[in-house]
Amino acid sequence: APPTAPERTQVTPLVPRLEIRDLTRSFDGQAVVDHVSLKVMPGQVTCLLGPSGCGKSTTLRMIAGVEMQDSGEIHVDGNLICDTVFRVPPERRMIGLMFQDFALFPHLTVGQNVAFGLKGPAEAKRARVEELLGKVGLQRFVDEFPYQLSGGEQQRVALARALAPRPRIMLMDEPFSGLDNRLRDDIRDETLEVLKAEDAAVLLVTHEPEEAMRMADEIALMRDGKIVQQGAPYNVYNAPIDRHAMSFFSDIN
Ligand code: ADP
Ligand code: MG
Repeated sequence: APPTAPERTQVTPLVPRLEIRDLTRSFDGQAVVDHVSLKVMPGQVTCLLGPSGCGKSTTLRMIAGVEMQDSGEIHVDGNLICDTVFRVPPERRMIGLMFQDFALFPHLTVGQNVAFGLKGPAEAKRARVEELLGKVGLQRFVDEFPYQLSGGEQQRVALARALAPRPRIMLMDEPFSGLDNRLRDDIRDETLEVLKAEDAAVLLVTHEPEEAMRMADEIALMRDGKIVQQGAPYNVYNAPIDRHAMSFFSDIN
């Protein structure tokens, strides 16, 4: 075959799905989140990693819109959604949430739990619920109640519920810490698979370096309210910025 001209490639600059700039929040005169800037790119899992009390959850709550920052900006897909004067309400931010204790509604079936945040015709809702329960492998439980499921199964229903309205961003705050070790690796892997297939950008908070190494495309290491190092897991692990970072990672076995 005759040689063909090289395809002309179009370079489109990637807009971060989520970008926070100089986010700051103090309690009682003490900055617990101190000028934190961070980008989460589409299709990526960014891990906010740091010891207990360093300000991870407060950062996530500001992004979710349930906590107000003292200063700084939050952008989604290049659009400002929150600064100190302008504020898109939490329910209109297209953000999904998952926490360790983000309990399912006990009086609703699995199917009703997943459908909870959905709007529109019943048929479309049912199809979306089926699709998601299929993805987490729990279709057979659609008419069961949460108490009839194991902890791991409930967690997967919570994932399906959070993803049902097609959030642009998933915020996950230590979502696996309530699960026993035996289950955790499997659920982490499954969760990653579902998140990638659903095209949500993920900001995952954890205090476990091992979890960050397993799940993240990008790690932002946080200490005392500040991001002290950021990069690919391999680089952060192999070239810790100081002895604190080094000892933090040395717990991985
Ligand atoms: P992490 O999630 O990394 O463990 P947090 O963001 O929950 O950390 O908390 C960071 C610090 O801010 C902690 O010292 C915590 O006690 C403090 N803090 C968080 N929320 C409040 C609040 N509403 N009032 C006062 N202090 C708070
Ligand atoms: Mg926390």
